[in-house]
Parts: sequence; structure tokens; C-alpha cells
Amino acid sequence: MADLGNPKNTIEMIQKHQFAFQKKFGQNFLIDPHVLDKIIRAAGVTKDDFVLEIGPGIGTLTQYLAETARQVMAVEIDENLIPILNETLGGYGNVSVMNEDILKVDINKMAEEHNGGQPIKVVANLPYYITTPIIMGLFENHVPVESITVMVQKEVADRMQAGPGSKDYGALSLAVQYYAEAYIAANVPPNCFIPRPNVGSAVIRLTRHKKPPVYVADEGLLFSLIRASFNQRRKTLLNGLNNSAYISYSKEQIQEGIAHIGQPPSVRGEALTLEQFGKLANYFSDLQN
Ligand code: SAM
Repeated sequence: MADLGNPKNTIEMIQKHQFAFQKKFGQNFLIDPHVLDKIIRAAGVTKDDFVLEIGPGIGTLTQYLAETARQVMAVEIDENLIPILNETLGGYGNVSVMNEDILKVDINKMAEEHNGGQPIKVVANLPYYITTPIIMGLFENHVPVESITVMVQKEVADRMQAGPGSKDYGALSLAVQYYAEAYIAANVPPNCFIPRPNVGSAVIRLTRHKKPPVYVADEGLLFSLIRASFNQRRKTLLNGLNNSAYISYSKEQIQEGIAHIGQPPSVRGEALTLEQFGKLANYFSDLQN
């Protein structure tokens, strides 16, 4: 099958099937073989791997995955792409295509059926409008996943990788880093896609921690604290937590908690590390007991 990483082949396939791009599905297809190779390398795909690809489009990245993985499951929402995928992937015995919304797929069950419940690899050029729900869904639903290697908006990749003191640091950085180690493998300009997106992109690899880097008694409380701290970014941590509808501790208790983690009353949430948020969450959990 002709390499769809070659723009000429992609254009031919789109014209042959009179495919009309749908903006609402975030359809920007990759047309750069170097970037495709980079994604495969960053994901470290081998013949032992079961790979879930989210949004195969016309099957460009899927072809590269089929060459390197044991088995590939590609989940595509747009039914107009299915006849194209049947043509571009028909030659591969190790690829299955599912016409579904990824947010409705039971990925735990998929991993159980196709990989004996062992950790799978997720590789995708993601539809940008649902990047965060897809990634957080994989983590929070405790899907057995070894790594997630995905193309996302550059700005989102920066936020996932950021630490305290950076302007990009926020609730997404902490949530991602609680579950995984984040590494930006490549920056990708708009001209590597058809049609061109109006933002820069990046390939990020999230390698899931075997266990979270901080121990917290109550994960829900940790994430409520994080969200409340960054909801009002310019406020102090004390005011942010005190004003939040989701945090029920008194101002005095919050003050004591902040002192307990060795911070001044004027500290802002954006200065706290994941470890400090963890300590604060455990301090409040202990108050309840
Ligand atoms: N993988 C292809 C490539 O790299 O050329 C296409 C990537 S394109 C950025 C995103 C793909 O995700 C599109 O094919 C789009 O139709 C599909 N998509 C969008 N929303 C989806 C959803 N909720 N579930 C599954 N696929 C989705």
C-alpha cells in the first residue's frame, strides 16, 4: 500500500473518495514521514505490543503502527472514513477498525480481550477538542496503559510538562504528573498536516508511573485542592481554598494546613509542588479521622 505519509498519496485518496473534512471532529491528517517515524520511535512500539490508536483518519499513522506492532485497534468516530480505512488498511492482517466515539469505548474490556489485561500502548494524533477528557479518562478509569504517545497542541504539551514557577503550570500539569512522567519528543509545525491547523503541535509521551510519586489517602481530595487552588490563580492559596465551594474546611484549618507544609500564609497555589499538595491533602484527611 502506498505510504500515506506522502502528501501526494493522501490527496489522491481524499479525492478518490470525495472525502470532506469535518472541523467538528478535529480532522488534521499527518503528511510528513519524518514526524510519523518520530511518533513510532517515541512510543517505542515493538512486535510484542497491542496498540490502541484513537482517530486513525485515513489510516496514515495506522500503517506505520501495523508495520511495528503486534496488533492495532483503531477507533474512528467518522463513518465516512470507514470505507477509506478498509482500502488503506485492507492489506494488514493485524489491524482492526472500530467505528465508535472513543469516549464511549470500554478500553478496560478491550485490554482484557486483546492483551490479557496487560498494559497497552496508546498512540494517536489526537482530535484537539477532546485531548484532556481522553487522556484523563485513560488515567482515572485505571485502564492498564503503559504509555500514551500523542500529538497534541503545543500549548497543551507545555502545560502537561510544566513545573512550579512556570506560567504553564496548573491543574493539568499536576493531574498528568500524578499519573505519569511527561516528555516532549518533538515540536511539529502546521505544515505537516492537511488541512493546516492554526496552532503549533507537539508529540508528548506520558509513561505511566508504576505507582504515583506521592502517597495520598484521598485522591479525590487532592484533585479538589488542586482545582480550587488554580481556579483563582491570582489569589493566595488560603483565599482560593477558602472561597471554593468544594472545600469545606474553615479558614483557620486551611491556615494551619499551609503552615503544616512549611509555607507562608501569602503563598500561591502555583508555587506548590505535587508533593506539597499531597502533604496538604493528607493533613486535611487526618482532620476528618
Ligand atoms: N491519525 C490521523 C492522522 O494522523 O492523519 C488523523 C488524526 S486527526 C487529528 C483526528 C482523528 O480523530 C480524525 O480522524 C477524527 O475523525 C477522529 N475523531 C474525532 N473525535 C473522535 C472521537 N470522539 N472518537 C474517535 N475518533 C475521533
